[in-house]
Amino acid sequence: MNFSLFTRTGLLLAACLFASALRAEALPAKADIEAALNAAYAKYKALQEGANADYIPALAKVDPNIYGIALVTPEGKIYTAGDVKSEVSIQSISKVFTMALVMDESGPESIFNNMGVDATGQVFNSIVAIEQYKGAQMNPLVNAGAITATSMVKGSSREEIWNKILNHYNDFAGRELSVNKEVFESEAATNQRNQAIAELMYAYGHIKGDPDQATDIYTEQCSVNVNARDLAVMAATLANGGRNPITGKQVMKQENVAEVMAVMATAGLYDDSGQWLYLTGLPAKSGVGGGIIAVSPGRFGIAVISPPLDAAGNSVRAQKAIADISNALGGNPYEVAPVK
Ligand code: GLU
Repeated sequence: MNFSLFTRTGLLLAACLFASALRAEALPAKADIEAALNAAYAKYKALQEGANADYIPALAKVDPNIYGIALVTPEGKIYTAGDVKSEVSIQSISKVFTMALVMDESGPESIFNNMGVDATGQVFNSIVAIEQYKGAQMNPLVNAGAITATSMVKGSSREEIWNKILNHYNDFAGRELSVNKEVFESEAATNQRNQAIAELMYAYGHIKGDPDQATDIYTEQCSVNVNARDLAVMAATLANGGRNPITGKQVMKQENVAEVMAVMATAGLYDDSGQWLYLTGLPAKSGVGGGIIAVSPGRFGIAVISPPLDAAGNSVRAQKAIADISNALGGNPYEVAPVK
């Protein structure tokens, strides 16, 4: 080894050590994470605001007292508070992972070109939003875009498509998930609005195949049961560039993760997405089952389950707990200290 190579290698090594020291310094310490989780859990445990979603009849029957918090780091450390075993249906949080699947299979431009990546400014199941731009200029996290995304998953039969979706979710969660049959049947019997949305997206040429099948598979994907720990591992997989920090498996293409999180940031919490981003800076997604996931890129994935929702459809406790915890741990990616 000549001197200059030796020097260069040494400099590179020093730079790497410095970078990893910076990164290690930026990651919250175990005691701080535990304290933040326990504080948020205790603070909101007695909170009695909001109500379960009831437009899907089975959701009204879910125990409103389920309250669990989980945070998972890119190193695979899991922190929990409260009930992280009880399962609820994943609902709209599933949209994030189907979007990721379509981007991996058909390229990020497939989503961009077919339904867009803009916030609609309308409710998540808005017909008006479809009519406004003939099904374009929306995003895969509202129902029209989400059902369309489901219709874009490749497969020669319903079974093949469904298995691909479920396996993809399993990869994100790091375990085998199952469908809540009661929720699936309850929503399938009452989802005429989503059927209408799919028909319109078909009429405008965004859904190419059978719109009824797309709605049916979408309804099933929304009925997958998850607990707070599952959701936190799924969120942490996004925080970790698409690699599940528990199983070590790369479950989606790293290059698509930033785009998924961008849409979560602009459209993840229904009509309150702007307010949420303002308060936390975190890409997130909520579901009417009562779960919310949020991602602090490179730092942690967090999830809270608590079924009572506010008027916008977001879990009351989950929003408060995640905001407190993330802000206590410096999770806001927009928060930077000036260089002197
Ligand atoms: N399956 C629900 C629907 O399509 C999901 C809604 C949500 O969680 O936002 O209405």
